[in-house]
Amino acid sequence: MTATETQFTQHLSTRRTPAEEREAVLADPGFGNFFTDHTAIIDFSVDESGVGGWHSARLEPYGPIALDPAAAVLHYGQEIFEGMKAYRHADGSVWTFRADANAARLNRSAIRLALPQLPEELFLESLRQLVAADQDWIPSGDGASLYIRPFMIATEAFLGVRPAREVSYRVIASPAGNYFGGAVRPVDIWVSRNYARAGRGGTGAAKAGGNYASSLAAQLEAEAHGCKQVLFLDQANDNAVEELGGMNVFFVFRDGSLVTPSLSGTILEGVTRSSIIQLGRDRGLNVVERKITLDEWRDGIASGDITEVFACGTAAVITPIGRLRDGDEYIGAPDSAPGDVTMSIRSQLLGIQSGVVEDTHGWLTRL
Ligand code: PMP
Repeated sequence: MTATETQFTQHLSTRRTPAEEREAVLADPGFGNFFTDHTAIIDFSVDESGVGGWHSARLEPYGPIALDPAAAVLHYGQEIFEGMKAYRHADGSVWTFRADANAARLNRSAIRLALPQLPEELFLESLRQLVAADQDWIPSGDGASLYIRPFMIATEAFLGVRPAREVSYRVIASPAGNYFGGAVRPVDIWVSRNYARAGRGGTGAAKAGGNYASSLAAQLEAEAHGCKQVLFLDQANDNAVEELGGMNVFFVFRDGSLVTPSLSGTILEGVTRSSIIQLGRDRGLNVVERKITLDEWRDGIASGDITEVFACGTAAVITPIGRLRDGDEYIGAPDSAPGDVTMSIRSQLLGIQSGVVEDTHGWLTRL
């Protein structure tokens, strides 16, 4: 056998089957690195008489999208998305958490980005179809899930700033491991003074790709200063705390209240945020949605009135915030352990999602 022939046969004999590939991925999926075998698609178009409608719902093998180089999404960023998870329970059944809330938020984002709304039934059916086809990709095990990413893009080919008349809604999915690999460690947060995430009347309350593109420079700045995430402020409103790049924020007060910034129109209404508000009320905490400024955060930590601060979102569920870094100033202690209230709400929420704590609010839907 020549050297080249040997290389070929070695390559063939070491190649894993698709099932072996999948098993290897599921053993250590990380987050957002691997994608399942299919994608669910529903197209939207506006006909000659100006009437728009959804059609051609289908599953396709996962793969690249053929887009015209003039497709509106590539030039004007007309795009929205959602992020949610499917969980495999001990009996093998598969569930999503508050899918109706994600369907409703997708439609609020659609209105803001002048995209067509998708009926909730179609949204749910697209998840069901994709998860049914790719159920072998749902990891089981502590904290593991299938992350589901529905999104909508303007596919019409034209140059000119107006809402596209052709749109594609798609769903992809990605196995996700335990976000923390077991241990929950508080993260340091960088206060963004140079960049804002959103302004009044802008797209901050929508889950639109452009919001994340514009957050990247601030994220780079955070990393350059040794922080994991960015805190955005409303600088025109007494430095009111808004949210992190991809998570909402909560404060636990010594007097038993749980405070989170109110929905000002410039922050995303997180599904995790609404769930924590409910769970907080269930356990008798005084949950308040209000304006909370950076000064109140600093003073509250100094006086001991604020005992815990945490961030929340679908991907990482609940993450304790360690220190806040504002320029050269640090707010909070360097090695603070995660707080009790933070960890207790976290385990309750994870328990409901994974089927080991009773779902008294009917938040789970079987797929
Ligand atoms: N804020 C922003 C900017 C986000 O991207 C996310 C993640 N979707 C959140 C908050 C948390 O939202 P949810 O709890 O629905 O994941």
